[in-house]
Amino acid sequence: MSKIETICVQGGYTPGNGEPRQIPIVQSTTFKYATGGEMAKLFDLEASGYFYSRLQNPTCDTVAAKICEMEGGTAAMLTSSGQAANFFAVFNVATCGDHVVAESSIYGGTFNLFAVTMKKMGIDFTFVAPDCSDDELEAAFKPNTKAVFGETIANPALRVLDIERFADAAHAHGVPLIVDNTFATPINCRPFEFGADIVTHSTTKYMDGHGSAVGGAIVDSGHFDWMAHRDKFPGLTTPDDSYHGITYAEKFGKEGAFITKATAQLMRDFGSTPSPQSAYLLNLGLESLHVRMARHCENARAVAEYLKTDDRVSWVFYPDLEGNPDYELAKKYLPKGSCGVISFGVKGGRAAAEKFMSNLRLCAIETHVADARTCCLHPASTTHRQMSDSELEAAGVSPDLIRLSCGIESAEDLIDDVKQALERI
Ligand SMILES: *Cc1c(COP(=O)(O)O)cnc(C)c1O
Repeated sequence: MSKIETICVQGGYTPGNGEPRQIPIVQSTTFKYATGGEMAKLFDLEASGYFYSRLQNPTCDTVAAKICEMEGGTAAMLTSSGQAANFFAVFNVATCGDHVVAESSIYGGTFNLFAVTMKKMGIDFTFVAPDCSDDELEAAFKPNTKAVFGETIANPALRVLDIERFADAAHAHGVPLIVDNTFATPINCRPFEFGADIVTHSTTKYMDGHGSAVGGAIVDSGHFDWMAHRDKFPGLTTPDDSYHGITYAEKFGKEGAFITKATAQLMRDFGSTPSPQSAYLLNLGLESLHVRMARHCENARAVAEYLKTDDRVSWVFYPDLEGNPDYELAKKYLPKGSCGVISFGVKGGRAAAEKFMSNLRLCAIETHVADARTCCLHPASTTHRQMSDSELEAAGVSPDLIRLSCGIESAEDLIDDVKQALERI
């Protein structure tokens, strides 16, 4: 098997003689067949092939195959956004009347999706702190629990998930662990190696890496045995009357059932389909992901170490720094480095934080992270403003928290910019 650097560049696509070197953009909504019978086989999932781009498109599938290889999974799909990926991943196993355990420091958008929107759909969530005790984690499970959800590195709290501990707890209750691996990317962590069953991504972040296309991905490890827990997951283990009576786990096995069901049911009905153009842009980003991640981490470490020495800064939070509460977890799960994102507080609280932000010249204020260009955000007044103080607390976001996403520029220039912005508070 190829190393991940090679998969980034060449995975998912092997052109034949005279075929395009770069992946073709198949800009077509529909696909032609000579007979109705041939198309019927596709609808019955008796043959694989394309008929309508809402469900599947060759360009999107090529890029999904690369991400699948990068994560070491057995099947994958792209979605139109990270939000769609997380919604599909959870809704594929949990429905009205079910329950899910989620770690509380997850991304604000995902928290809202779970705690507000999916709750309205009748799915109940229990949130646990990433560093909760084993007893607290155990107590969060109910007889109707269908999944456990967490982020490898939480955005923006930067808590590191103890993937093995959460996977063990999930498996003890016969349910899968779903891990959002957006911030770490498979370059820095491959959650399947630690027992995660399903991985999701907002490809909008490091994978795209250039702020050009919103997107998401879901990858299946192929490890979870749905048939061994058939009563818990009737959607996978009993015939789907809405799809020609197929029983996904029987017909596609552990390796293919989850993604086939998510495509045939959820993509069909919700249509959160990425465009082939966006998939093409995502692939360009993936080709340099391994090079960029190393630089993002190197720059973030340099900036974090500088911030630690500046006495106008009240605290610095970066998992790779010794003394960080998750330093040991980061060493175990993220030995190559965590990510380019740092959080810190400026002395003088909220007002000083806002002044600091407007003093920056090189670092732009953006609702974005994980971009080649350095950007900066004050979550309490923007992305997390819908949260109450106690919810903010649970998500590990204090009112003075500044989230700095280090790009791939010169670390020296970044430090100079931060220094001059601190001086002018
Ligand atoms: C950004 C983000 C999302 C949402 O992704 P979109 O592509 O913006 O829909 C989900 N999870 C994490 C960890 C994120 O950083």
